Amino acid sequence: MPELPEVEAAVRRFRRKAVGRTIAKVTLLHPSLQRRITPARLRAIAGATIAAVERRGKHQLIHLDDGRILLAHFRMNGDWEYGNAGDDLQRFARATIDFTDDSRITFVDSRALGTIELHAAGTLPDLGLGPDAASASWTARQLGTSLAARKGPIKPALLDQKLVAGLGNIYASEALWRAKINPRTPCNTLTAKQVSDLRKAIAAVLKRAKGTRYTDDSTVHLDVYDREGVPCRRCKTPVVRFAQAGRSTYWCPVCQRN
Ligand SMILES: [Zn+2]
Repeated sequence: MPELPEVEAAVRRFRRKAVGRTIAKVTLLHPSLQRRITPARLRAIAGATIAAVERRGKHQLIHLDDGRILLAHFRMNGDWEYGNAGDDLQRFARATIDFTDDSRITFVDSRALGTIELHAAGTLPDLGLGPDAASASWTARQLGTSLAARKGPIKPALLDQKLVAGLGNIYASEALWRAKINPRTPCNTLTAKQVSDLRKAIAAVLKRAKGTRYTDDSTVHLDVYDREGVPCRRCKTPVVRFAQAGRSTYWCPVCQRN
């Protein structure tokens, strides 16, 4: 699943390829996307120029020059591919954006869970996002205040985009391992030191991520995620996986015992 660094990298690539280009045609190839934008609204995108591309949490905002916004989210498996309008469509192509210069951006998504919506100028809904996980201005003090109001375990809380935007299942486990915090710890029992360590750990794991395509995971170094039964990189205890709020959590039962 794409996490914040991968979405940020995808946004940068999209921005480089698309800003300043004029849309000739957007085609929605999958019913789940066709349900979201009516054919008339889709046709009316033709002639608009892409003015800016922005990431908020894991949402991608493609700003058109007239104020309309295409709002995209990769969910589990989406990605953008770049080519030309005449290219054969690949198997998992779900939408295409053709530009007047004959370049094409294709939304590919093997699971077809990703979304693209069109919002008229000034009508973007509240995305319900807390501070961005990659923002330097998000402080441990802010994180501590938010956590003090929550009784549930810390790991699922870190996936709540209202608490912090952009953190996903992989880097939540990675950050807790790095900060030596038990993923089951109730949020409101974390000490100020633990909150501070956690804030630093989140910054460190996001910084270490290379922002490569997430499908190319051979280049990503993970400390604990997807390492069930493999010795902990710190203490050599086998890493344990368990299901927490329906998602896999990986942790070291010795380093993160507290
Ligand atoms: Zn360990």
